[in-house]
Amino acid sequence: MTRALAISDLSIRPDAPLLIVDVDEVLAHFMAGFERYVGRHGYEMRIDRFALFQNIYRPGESECLDMETGKRLFDAFFQDGADDLDPVAGAADALATLSTRAGVVILTNAPAHALESRTGWLSTHGFDYPMILHSGLKGPAIREMSGLTAGPACFIDDLLPNLESSAETAPAVKRFQIIADDRLRPFAPVAPERHDFHVDWTTLGPALRTAVG
Ligand SMILES: [Mg+2]
Repeated sequence: MTRALAISDLSIRPDAPLLIVDVDEVLAHFMAGFERYVGRHGYEMRIDRFALFQNIYRPGESECLDMETGKRLFDAFFQDGADDLDPVAGAADALATLSTRAGVVILTNAPAHALESRTGWLSTHGFDYPMILHSGLKGPAIREMSGLTAGPACFIDDLLPNLESSAETAPAVKRFQIIADDRLRPFAPVAPERHDFHVDWTTLGPALRTAVG
């Protein structure tokens, strides 16, 4: 039985750089995996906005799925579908290299019942780093973790609200945005002047290498 980690369980080295890394659309192709999952349940994804449930439709219908049904599918996905996510190219290798000089913590927003599947997925795909299962804006957790080291800290996420929360709450932490899904990326709110924007890990990896010193 996997036990959920708290920030106080982490052994963050007080002098080492720290990377705080999201999962969905950063390490994992969430949208594509969720699309396959809803497809198996008779729905289809039409990605024409930066949203989750509002891109899910019953075949032939022009109205997207109601929030409640979408939420049910999302919760069910983390019961029996979340193992079926493709890893984002280059992420595991980049983090493996970076982890020789920096601590890595995975900070993911997912329901509590996602603990086992999420931990298993990370381990299967070469992301053997401690994971904090979180909910809500990530800034306060980032402040707490980055406060445990005097080294430089970086936060990598796809969602602008989390990056803004980090900027507000832990301004010293460097911020990086990546949205792995090619179809979703054009609709994503970004602010490259505030949060360093990357399309893939071929540029994100070296940028993080520079940031950790
Ligand atoms: Mg994400």
